[in-house]
Amino acid sequence: TKWVYTFGGGKAEGAAVDRDLLGGKGANLAEMCNLGLPVPPGLTIITEACAGYYSHGRSIPDDLKAQVRAGITRIEEITGRVFGDNQRPLLLSVRSGARASMPGMMDTVLNLGLNDHSVQALGHDAGDARFAWDSYRRFIQMYGDVVMGLDHEIFEEILEDEKGRLGHGQDTELSAVEWQHVISLYKRAIEEELGESFPQDPEVQLWGAIGAVFASWMNARAITYRHLHNIPAEWGTAVNVQAMVFGNLGNSSATGVAFTRNPSTGENELYGEFLVNAQGEDVVAGIRTPQNITEASRLASGSDKPSLEKLMPEAFEQFCTICETLERHYKDMQDLEFTIERGTLWMLQTRSGKRTAKAALKIAVDMAEAGLITRHQAVTRIDPASLDQLLHPTIDPRARRDIIGSGLPASPGAATGEIVFTSEEAVLAEKEGRKVILVRVETSPEDIHGMHAAEGILTSRGGMTSHAAVVARGMGIPCVSGAGNIRVDLRNELLIAAGMTLKKGDVITIDGSSGQVLKGEIPMLQPELSGDFGRIMEWADKSRRMTVRTNAETPADARAARSFGAEGIGLCRTEHMFFEGERINVMREMILAADEAGRRIALDKLLPMQRSDFAELFSIMHGLPVTIRLLDPPLHEFLPKTDEEIADVAGVLGMNPADLRQRVDALHEFNPMLGHRGCRLAISYPEICEMQARAIFEAAVEAARETGAPVVPEIMVPLVGLKSELDYVKACIDAVAKEVIGEAGIEIEYLVGTMIELPRAALRAHVIAESADFFSFGTNDLTQTTFGISRDDAAQFLNTYIQKGIVEQDPFVSLDFDGVGELIQIAAERGRRTKNGLKLGICGEHGGDPASIRFCEQTGLDYVSCSPFRVPIARLAAAQAAI
Ligand code: PEP
Ligand code: MG
Repeated sequence: TKWVYTFGGGKAEGAAVDRDLLGGKGANLAEMCNLGLPVPPGLTIITEACAGYYSHGRSIPDDLKAQVRAGITRIEEITGRVFGDNQRPLLLSVRSGARASMPGMMDTVLNLGLNDHSVQALGHDAGDARFAWDSYRRFIQMYGDVVMGLDHEIFEEILEDEKGRLGHGQDTELSAVEWQHVISLYKRAIEEELGESFPQDPEVQLWGAIGAVFASWMNARAITYRHLHNIPAEWGTAVNVQAMVFGNLGNSSATGVAFTRNPSTGENELYGEFLVNAQGEDVVAGIRTPQNITEASRLASGSDKPSLEKLMPEAFEQFCTICETLERHYKDMQDLEFTIERGTLWMLQTRSGKRTAKAALKIAVDMAEAGLITRHQAVTRIDPASLDQLLHPTIDPRARRDIIGSGLPASPGAATGEIVFTSEEAVLAEKEGRKVILVRVETSPEDIHGMHAAEGILTSRGGMTSHAAVVARGMGIPCVSGAGNIRVDLRNELLIAAGMTLKKGDVITIDGSSGQVLKGEIPMLQPELSGDFGRIMEWADKSRRMTVRTNAETPADARAARSFGAEGIGLCRTEHMFFEGERINVMREMILAADEAGRRIALDKLLPMQRSDFAELFSIMHGLPVTIRLLDPPLHEFLPKTDEEIADVAGVLGMNPADLRQRVDALHEFNPMLGHRGCRLAISYPEICEMQARAIFEAAVEAARETGAPVVPEIMVPLVGLKSELDYVKACIDAVAKEVIGEAGIEIEYLVGTMIELPRAALRAHVIAESADFFSFGTNDLTQTTFGISRDDAAQFLNTYIQKGIVEQDPFVSLDFDGVGELIQIAAERGRRTKNGLKLGICGEHGGDPASIRFCEQTGLDYVSCSPFRVPIARLAAAQAAI
């Protein structure tokens, strides 16, 4: 097997297209090399070697060793340095690089190859002993942590103690001799803690580091990250071994991270940060607060530290040209890492940059309008799920802002919550349904659980490219980072700001768009849906085949959905209309009535309420289709449960509590989800169906008269398994229609269809279709009944299933294509065999899930229906599925 691909000296064995083999970092290093950009020479061990490492019981295959040796010889030839040499030692970086970017999740070792001898040579060769000792201590620190497994805090404590003792504020202030002393303390700590000494043999170091990178593919945080981003464990990581270039070689050296466009706003401006006399890890770790790359962003940020543009104008110019080249080449915004060694620029990484949803829209629209990409490409560039971020509220500008601190606007959107100081507490709070803001000094990749569980993240240290900022932007969670005027006292769980001391549980608001930290809860505003968002949606709408409807009952939801572009209502769950206010008591009166006559008295009271509900929905949807579903849930859902509730309700209804208790007990079901619900109710109590049908038709008559807009109500029968069930209910609806329409003397068209949410209905679709004008797949119940997993109890064990890899995803969130999906395909095919062009839609939760929407497109459904806030997501996902 060819395990190793080399790059450097103006050519590379691989290219960007070899991403699966070389990982993202390796493929792009090769590509940059082929483009003639300055890339330090190196080699990439392919991702398949990672699988080999695990299948060999975590050991390195023999032929791999020989190939790496040959690759290093090539690096030696290009650099004129020798690995392990005591004259001109070659130092290496060893970095992970998977197919999909997993920022900060896996391990890296820098400055590899140094030992007690070569450190002298390095200092001598560079004419800078301080630099050599600084590099050596960095190496011991990283290697000790990543490869030998010693807690990095041990090194940090030693360094902090020494800095305190010597009276230094910054790492850069330590002299060669002082670093030498720190190193002896580091080495002693390793011996004391681990009972072994720091390895001096560069070969041992190299294979130790390569093994550690492979092993880091299976560390806890990488596993979590893969779960969150659906990255398969089989992919493995590549390993990049590359000649070191040094950003810590004095004040003409620097290292930085940049984006070719602003990753928060999408503005077409170079955006980034750097540190003088530092190595890359210093920037990402947020140890020192970095400087701006461009003068414009320095001015905007009000920083008094010089920009790269001013400090190193030549390297800056060259860097700007490279940014343009890379953007034009990849046709996308790039995220870059670079190092300047004594004035010479080196590129260490390029990849497509993570960005906020807002920035993604702006970049896609700008690039399409500049002709760099097509409109179709622009539409496919946006992750539909990320639109969620734009639909989040922002702080009302008229609100009073009680500002207690400020930091960098690291991830946009505003969030309010109780203060928590640890990720564990954030996770716990999420389980309890409490909203929290995770407050940390800085975050590390171990915090990823807590970050995901929090509404927002606040850190007192770190820049825009710190871990907290990058991860929060990726997750769409508001984040304020580097709020230096806030003191976080983790030990006592206090946040001290603006002379105030807040404790755990106190409520704060963060504004990830301005960087402000505010006391208490602040009024929020709904988002703006025009501009770039509007453009992308317009382009998406032109490319999609399926229509997008919404699931809505209330006028507010229906209006919101219209503003998000819903093209009708795909599911109006009428039961939701009876839970509110006074209505629930009339509903209870109906349910508790002793006989049909009693029920009819209550239903007469419900009729005008239902009629006015429907009339309002018809008027809001203004001629667009409205699907109204007959009453579906088990009736006892409306009834009181505890003794207290029973006493209350008995009082309101003028009943004896004991009688009420008896009636409630009589309605009890062991398995209500499979009990007396759905069309079974309409069959037991046709008067309920009559009332609902009457309300629908009378409202339709009213709407036709008043607005002149024709309404075609689509009446939907739930939980049908047998054609005879549908026939019975349809006969009842048709009879009412005849009566109401006859009385009104105007033409009202209507459809009667059924939900397909039981496996039997799917299998018998060709028969059921004889009586149905349309099918709507109720994939919530269809998933429940296909799997035999209760949708209300699944959460208890589905998480375990996911963790143990029994299922990849929650089938209630993303459609199970293999099982539930096949039933849908069968039903669609059999239904249309009976009725050519039978209208098909989906109204389960899956109607708003991009992967499930793709399946609906492939299955030939006519529409998807989802909750109002998901309508834009569904419009975009439907377009992407059709492109
Ligand atoms: C369904 O079962 O998918 C559905 C839309 O109906 P409900 O969620 O109301 O049961
Ligand atoms: Mg259902």
